[in-house]
Amino acid sequence: MGSYETRKRISRLLADERGGNRKPFGSGHALGIIYPNEYRIGMSNLGHQIIYSIVNSDPGWSCERFYTDFDPPLSMENQQAPCGFNILAFSIAYELDYLNALDFLERAGIPLRASDRASACPLIVAAGVCISVNRHPIYEFADVCLHGEGEELVKTLMRAYDEHSGGRRRLLESLAEKSGFEITAGARKSFGMDMPDIAGGRLPFVERVFVKRIEDHRCCSVIVTPHTEFASMCLVEIARGCPYNCAFCFVGHNLNPCRFVSARHVKEWISGSLALTNRFGLIASAIGSHPEIDEICSYCDEQGVHVSCSSLRAEDVTPAMLGTLARGGAQTLTIAPEAGSPRLRRLLGKARLPDERIDWVVEQAVKAGIPSLKMYFMAGLPTETEEDIGAIAQLVRRVQKVFVSVSRPQGRIGSLMINVGIFVPKPGTPLGKYAIMPGGQLKRRLALLKKQLGSIGSLRYQPPSLMHAQAQAILASGDLRAAGFLLAALKGGWRSALRECPLFTNAFREML
Ligand code: SF4
Repeated sequence: MGSYETRKRISRLLADERGGNRKPFGSGHALGIIYPNEYRIGMSNLGHQIIYSIVNSDPGWSCERFYTDFDPPLSMENQQAPCGFNILAFSIAYELDYLNALDFLERAGIPLRASDRASACPLIVAAGVCISVNRHPIYEFADVCLHGEGEELVKTLMRAYDEHSGGRRRLLESLAEKSGFEITAGARKSFGMDMPDIAGGRLPFVERVFVKRIEDHRCCSVIVTPHTEFASMCLVEIARGCPYNCAFCFVGHNLNPCRFVSARHVKEWISGSLALTNRFGLIASAIGSHPEIDEICSYCDEQGVHVSCSSLRAEDVTPAMLGTLARGGAQTLTIAPEAGSPRLRRLLGKARLPDERIDWVVEQAVKAGIPSLKMYFMAGLPTETEEDIGAIAQLVRRVQKVFVSVSRPQGRIGSLMINVGIFVPKPGTPLGKYAIMPGGQLKRRLALLKKQLGSIGSLRYQPPSLMHAQAQAILASGDLRAAGFLLAALKGGWRSALRECPLFTNAFREML
């Protein structure tokens, strides 16, 4: 797509957006926040919008958004090229997006490696939950890695930049002393700083910075658009961290303490956003665990706003919550049993979710007026047997019976969707010590599952991508050599990287 077409496309998208803050470019320091995926996906991410809002609230700074489906890369607000920004900050929420980040730098004409960049280049910052999970793959491409939650870190970054904007080395030295900032070896080499000890290919743990009171920041969308998955919806964060400890989950074991936003603040944020939209999406790891969730739901009912949420823990769902979601127009309830057999659910930390509870939730949801159901499962779990795969199909069959029998009297049978992911071990979790299941075995398990689900009928089944799971496993747990894997993927795609990269060839040849 040429520059003219890109500008036209951006203008059309901007015309459909509500909210936002367009400061003239060059009126102060400029920070580009990059969500390394398509606009449609990025606009369903709240984190980068919160940073956008914080930076723009500073009179000496402006923030512009970038997404990676525009070629050439141009910012949304003023259609500026990335090179003209003082800071480019990547907000990375998903490991496979590391590749989009490198592709973006390459298309922007910015040297990929920090050690090849001079002070005329924007400062390249890597942030987002993936940096906490495993920053090794992206380390040599970033100048600075941010560890922790961005709200305070970005303010510290701006203040340091204000103080040392004339000297990159002084800026980096100043940041190196601050909690949550890691100056990479490449940036250190470029600016003659002391080099860290990275022998053995593994970087040391860096303490994360957490926001004490989420209420101190307005954690809701400032821009809404119809061109995204959560169309015209204002996302409102009602909790951060998670009170549960599912054995496979990075959040529950690494991103706590769990903090709830008080109902008073949630109400204020919703009422302050009514000028943008009347559709709200509640964001939290476990919505139902919020101690004031019923009060929040009642408020939404009173205001007559449409409410939805990404996924509910079936353990916590209450009829009041389901009623609010149904009145708000929710068409689908999403729950994540993750495993079919009670034994595996116990292993995952979901002992409070017997089959009977799942039946009950499905029944209550349909009766409340939510016609469709989506269920998430994982294949390739540690200790999983073929019987456990069979148990997924058995559970689905059981749920379908309940679903159809409760739906019939309502005069409408919605759809039942089954989404299966592949277990990818995450460091810092109890199941992180296991390897991803070998490709051949996974293929057999998935084929078995497909056959068994196929015999149920009237299901929508979304099978997972083995290739993406294998790439994700490397990026989630690999050491500094994973940078070579990313570069191979940049050149020839994931499949070719999995085949070619000598470090991983043996481990992953089986699946190709
Ligand atoms: S899977 Fe969900 S409920 Fe379990 S620990 Fe993670 S965020 Fe919490």
